[in-house]
Amino acid sequence: MLKQKQDIRALTKEQLRMFFIENGDKSFRGNQVYEWLWHKATHSFDDMTNLSKETRTMLEENFVINHIEVDQMQRSNDGTIKNAIKLHDSLIVESVLIPTETRTTACVSSQVGCSLDCNFCATARLKRMRNLNPDEIYDQVVAIDQQSRLYHNHKLSNIVFMGMGEPLLNYKNVLDAIDKITSDEGLGMSPKRITLSTVGIPKMIKKLADDEVKFNLAVSLHSAIDEVRSKMMPINEKSNLAELLEALQYWYNKTKKIITFEYVIWKGINDKQKDANALVMYCKQVSSKVNLIEYNAIDDGEFQQAAKEATAMYVKTLEANRIVVNVRRSRGKDIDAACGQLANKTS
Ligand code: SAH
Repeated sequence: MLKQKQDIRALTKEQLRMFFIENGDKSFRGNQVYEWLWHKATHSFDDMTNLSKETRTMLEENFVINHIEVDQMQRSNDGTIKNAIKLHDSLIVESVLIPTETRTTACVSSQVGCSLDCNFCATARLKRMRNLNPDEIYDQVVAIDQQSRLYHNHKLSNIVFMGMGEPLLNYKNVLDAIDKITSDEGLGMSPKRITLSTVGIPKMIKKLADDEVKFNLAVSLHSAIDEVRSKMMPINEKSNLAELLEALQYWYNKTKKIITFEYVIWKGINDKQKDANALVMYCKQVSSKVNLIEYNAIDDGEFQQAAKEATAMYVKTLEANRIVVNVRRSRGKDIDAACGQLANKTS
């Protein structure tokens, strides 16, 4: 039987160095290969031109470089690009490039599908198939950076983990990917330009704080009333708002980084003054700001975006209480690339 070749990017730099020593070569070859694999993001041993032909053949015999492929690319009339990304085992995830006047943001996926059942999100309709590996997350960033340079004439400026999946349920791989994205041996991006968005898993938020991460945290709140939140996000039944708050206070005390609450206002669900008041009460207990995001309808039409007046009422209530609030306009809606619309469907 043919030996199953190992994915070379699953090796640490130290393991690569060891591999060369064990094969009678110098350890620095490991550094050279590591640089090709990450900093230069090459997908072929043949590109590694500072290695001899024999070394390249030897690598080829022992390893593969699993990599993603942009299977399909759709461009919205607002400049947003949605990519269907094919993984080495043919599963598909989506990544989005979101341009503004001054910057481009990559919205990346962390899992194939999602195990959480938020009832307003299209990705929740897909079964969780598997976690993405660090290189699969890294490659999405590289691909979007290339598109940013090609279509928008500047490099990628920000990354948000707001694509498919729950990043805190793929903790190790997400943190490993971010390490490589921010390291000078990788893409050298500042962690200040990276935001991880979570449904809010208290234990893992505390772990992030303990691990002293330097990136930003966003939490999908959507309601500060347990009964309402549990209805929209079943995770709230396992860990309620009080537990979440306690974890967020722990995060802030350790990192001193302000938390962003993502919040959608739905008609007849959380569009009343009492909902806004509850949000104010919640925000006052931890250093935070609010992003009000537009609801992007998913096919079943069960939920609707609240009236403009409801957004205005929230803004007024939050501002009266000196809580920073931004109203976020949706991008890429025409190609189903907006928040909560990622569901591997092509139009
Ligand atoms: N699992 C993570 C990241 C993925 S979702 C999280 O829950 O934060 C990214 C954001 O899109 C979340 O705030 C999510 O609540 C929001 N979202 C999901 N479906 C949406 C929809 N149909 N319209 C608008 N926002 C949606």
